[in-house]
Amino acid sequence: MKMNFPRINLHIHSNFSDGKNNIKQIVERALLTNLDFIAITDHFTDSWKEWVSKLKDWDKINEYLTEISICQNYVRDKKKKLAILKGIEIDLSSSEKFIKLIKPDKFDLILFEYLQNIEGIAFVKNIINFWRGTSKNIGNFPILGLAHFDPSYFIYENLDILMSFLKEFNIYFEFNPSYPNFYARKNQIFFDRLKETNIPVAIGCDSHSIKSLNNIEEPLEIICDYNLEDNLNILVKELENRFIFDIGNNSQEKT
Ligand SMILES: [Zn+2]
Repeated sequence: MKMNFPRINLHIHSNFSDGKNNIKQIVERALLTNLDFIAITDHFTDSWKEWVSKLKDWDKINEYLTEISICQNYVRDKKKKLAILKGIEIDLSSSEKFIKLIKPDKFDLILFEYLQNIEGIAFVKNIINFWRGTSKNIGNFPILGLAHFDPSYFIYENLDILMSFLKEFNIYFEFNPSYPNFYARKNQIFFDRLKETNIPVAIGCDSHSIKSLNNIEEPLEIICDYNLEDNLNILVKELENRFIFDIGNNSQEKT
């Protein structure tokens, strides 16, 4: 049975990294296609592919966050029901020093990409614990997720370690239509464990153009196919608690 879920795409790139469109164009298309929750999640990296992103220092990051704020105000003034999250996608092959430049309180969502082994888990734990130590208001800590995570790195070993890590830090798994092979039956054990452990799951399309902003049907079908509707609901509840507001009274917005 397919439940009625809000329409969410929590993984979108703008021209602040390798996306084609500016944030305003993304928001206009999201309104047109009746999405309920979107996250702008541009790349943050100083790895070999650092050229993909313009977000190199706090001047640029502030410009990015301000543009998202302007769009949040625009949507609110139009009395539309679209929540726009301030996100960022952190490349875990970046240096630790660079990643620690991120001030988590400024964001609603932090995605990690390229988690591939237990050393990576230790690296992320270290960074989150550092952020928690510097965070002024821990209640304001962003939602955390794994971008296009490939389960096959963990199905043969360290699956227990991965699951307790996701549980302890409340990190979600993303269903992403750009990577259909990740959802192959050979990874069934991983999806069963997500279900058993109540790990939240999300939909993120990795949109680099407004054309793919609305590709949310296939990920939703896969979620239902693996019986992970309750896991998606965990995330939906979290989104609704944090970002649903009475129209005209958006009290949740980060400044
Ligand atoms: Zn991405």
